[in-house]
Amino acid sequence: MMRQYELVDRVRKYNPNANEDLLNRAYVYAMRAHGAQTRASGDPYFTHPLEVAAILTEMKLDDATIVAAVLHDTIEDTAATRAEIDEIFGPEIGALVDGLTKLKRLDLVSKKAEQAENFRKLLLAIAEDVRVLLVKLADRLHNMRTLHFVNPDKRARIAQETLDIYAPLAGRMGMQLMRDELENLAFKNLNPEAFALVSTRLADLRNDNSELIGAIEAELAEELRKRGINAEVRGRQKQPYSVWAKMERKSVAFEQLSDIFGFRVVVDRVEDCYAVIGIVHTKWPSVPGRFKDYISTPKQNDYRSIHTTVVGPGRQRVELQVRTHDMHDIARNGIAAHALYKDGVAPALSQESSAYQWLKRTIDMLADGDSPEEFLEHTRLELFHDQVFCFTPKGRLIALPRGATPIDFAYAVHTSVGNSAVGVKINGRLAPLLAPLANGDEVEIIRAETQTPPAAWESIAVTGKARAAIRRASREAVRAQYAGLGRQIVLRAFERAGKPFGDDKLKLALPRLARSNIEDVLAAVGRGEMFSGDVVKAVHPDFKEERKTAAGRRPDPGWFKMQKAAGMQFKAPGSTGHALPIRGLRGDLPVSFAPDGGAVPGDRIVGILTPGEGVTIYPIQASALEGFDDQPERWLDVRWDMEGAPELFPAKVVVAGINEPGSLGAIASLIGETGANIDDVQFNKISPDFREMIFELQVFDLKHLTDILSRLRALPMVHRVERVIG
Ligand code: MN
Repeated sequence: MMRQYELVDRVRKYNPNANEDLLNRAYVYAMRAHGAQTRASGDPYFTHPLEVAAILTEMKLDDATIVAAVLHDTIEDTAATRAEIDEIFGPEIGALVDGLTKLKRLDLVSKKAEQAENFRKLLLAIAEDVRVLLVKLADRLHNMRTLHFVNPDKRARIAQETLDIYAPLAGRMGMQLMRDELENLAFKNLNPEAFALVSTRLADLRNDNSELIGAIEAELAEELRKRGINAEVRGRQKQPYSVWAKMERKSVAFEQLSDIFGFRVVVDRVEDCYAVIGIVHTKWPSVPGRFKDYISTPKQNDYRSIHTTVVGPGRQRVELQVRTHDMHDIARNGIAAHALYKDGVAPALSQESSAYQWLKRTIDMLADGDSPEEFLEHTRLELFHDQVFCFTPKGRLIALPRGATPIDFAYAVHTSVGNSAVGVKINGRLAPLLAPLANGDEVEIIRAETQTPPAAWESIAVTGKARAAIRRASREAVRAQYAGLGRQIVLRAFERAGKPFGDDKLKLALPRLARSNIEDVLAAVGRGEMFSGDVVKAVHPDFKEERKTAAGRRPDPGWFKMQKAAGMQFKAPGSTGHALPIRGLRGDLPVSFAPDGGAVPGDRIVGILTPGEGVTIYPIQASALEGFDDQPERWLDVRWDMEGAPELFPAKVVVAGINEPGSLGAIASLIGETGANIDDVQFNKISPDFREMIFELQVFDLKHLTDILSRLRALPMVHRVERVIG
C-alpha cells in the first residue's frame, strides 16, 4: 500500500506548493473510515482510493482533485458524511466527493431506466465540475486494472460499460492515454482470445522490425539535427484494441493493416512543426491525401498535431505525427492537461478548452425535457459506437449512423433540403459535403434552388432515405444534363456543317434516328452513344460530312494565347455563345477537372469533350491544351456557375525565398489566415540560404488565390511567388 509520505512526495514532485497538511489529513481520514474493509482481491479497501489518487498525480492534478480521489468512496461506503467532509476539507472538496458519491450510487443499478438516469447524472455532474469526471475515470481505470478479481458476469458488464461509455468519454475529452488503457483492459476482459492474438502479433511485428524502426528513427533524428531542429523522435505502435476495432470495421486481416507503425516528432515551437514537415517531404516522397494540419484546425477535443505519411527508407510507408511538447501533453491527457502545474502554480481548470465547451453545450441542449430512457436513446453521443448525433443551427437533434455525411444529414432534415444542398458549414466552418460528421457537430446546409443532387452522392450517402431520394432525383436530372451537353455538341455540329438547326427540324427527323423525342436524341449524343454528324445527316439527308472541314478550322497556334494577351473574353473556335455552366467538382454535369490543371473559379476555362466520358476542364493557360489544337470539334465553350455554392479547389503555388528560421511557419500561418487549406508542402530546391517550396492549396476562387499570392509577396523573406499551372 502506498505510504502517507509517498502520496505527498508524488504531488510535491510537480507541485512544490502542495498543501501537505490537507493531503495528510485526507490520507488519515479515509484510512480510518475504510478501516478493515477489503476488496475482491483481499487487499485492504483503502488501497483503491490511494491508487486512484496516484493515477491522478500522473496527470499532475491539483490538491482538491487528489484529495477528492482519496475520499471518493467514503460517503457511500463508510460512516462519513458530506457535512463532516465539508467541515474538515472545505466545501469545494465536499462538492466533488458528493458528485462522485451520486455517481457511485447509480453504478449499482442495472435496469435500463436507471442506467439512463446514471448516465444523465454523470454528464450533469461533469458539467458542474469537470474534475468529477477526472476522478471518475481514474476510479474506473483502477477498477478495470483489478477486474480479474470480480466474478465473470459482473466483469463482462463492467467491461462493456467501460467500452460503451467511459473510454469514448475519455476520448472525447482528449485523454488518449486513459482511453487506450480503458479500451485495452475492456477488450482483454470481453474477448481474451482476440486480445491475446492481436497482442502477440503486435509484439512479433515489433521484434521483427526493431532494426528498421531504429534505423528510421536515427535517420530522421539526424536529418533534423543537421537542420538545427531540436526534436525528440520516437517510434510508436498502434494499441491492441484500436488494431482490433479497425480489423472489425474494415473486415480486414491483421496483415492487411499498413499503418501499425508510426513515428512521433516532438519539437519546441509551432514553427518547428512546419519546418519538420518541409524537411521530411523534401527527403522522402509524401503519400498524397495523408497530410493533415490539426495545428491550424484543431480537433474538437483540442488535439493538435500535423500528420503526414511518407515513403521512407526501405520503401516503407511511414506515418508521422509532428507536434510541440505542449500539444503532446494535450494529446495524451486532454482536458486534464489544462490543469497542469506550470512553475508550481496551479491554473484554474480551463473552461475555454473546446472539449469542455462541447460537453457543456451538448448537456445544455439535452438536459431538459425528455424522460431518462429517451435521454439515453438520444444522447449516446460519442459514447455509442454506431451513431453520431448532430444539430441543426436551431438546435434540433439529428441522429445518424456512424460515418454519415452532411448529405445524409440534409436528407434527414427534409428531402427538399437534401435535393437542394450545395455546401455545408460544420460548426461555422465551410466543409466538404463528403466529410464524415462527428458527434456534437452543428451542421448548416447551404442550399441553392436550382441544384439537383449528383448521382455520385448515392454511393457516398450512408442512410437508405438519402440514397433512395438521390436515386429518384438524379435519374431525371442526369438525363437532362446529358441532353444539355448533347445540345451543345449538336449545335456545334450544325454550325460546322453550315446547316440551320431547330427543334422543329429535329422533330421531323426523329424516325430516322429511331428515337421518340428530342431529349432522347440529345441525351444519346451527350452520352457519346450517338454521333452529332449522324444527327446532322438525319435532319439534312443531303449533307456530306467532309473530314477536312474540321481540320481546316484548326485554330492558329498560339491563338488562345493571343486572345488572353488581348484580355478578350475567351471563345472556343466556332463558339455558339451557348457556354456550358460549370458548377465545380460536385456539380451536376459529366465534368472533371484536368489533373494538375489547377483551374479555380474566376479562371478562364475551356472544356475538352471525350465521347462517353464527358468534359474535362482546363484553365486557358494550360499547356496541355495545345494537344487538342487539331481537334476543334472537341472544344466546348464553358463558364463558371458557382454562385451561392462555395467550394474549395486545388491550386499549386511555388514560393522561393530566404531560408531562415520561422519563415516556413510565417508562410503557413499567413496562408491559414486567408481561410485556405494546405494540402501538401514540398521543397524543390534547398540550400542553407535559399529554398523553393511548392504548396498544394485549396482555395475558393481566383480572387482568393490572388489575395494569397499578393500577401505572400509582401513577406520580407519571400523573393518570388507564382502560381503553377500544369
Ligand atoms: Mn471507487
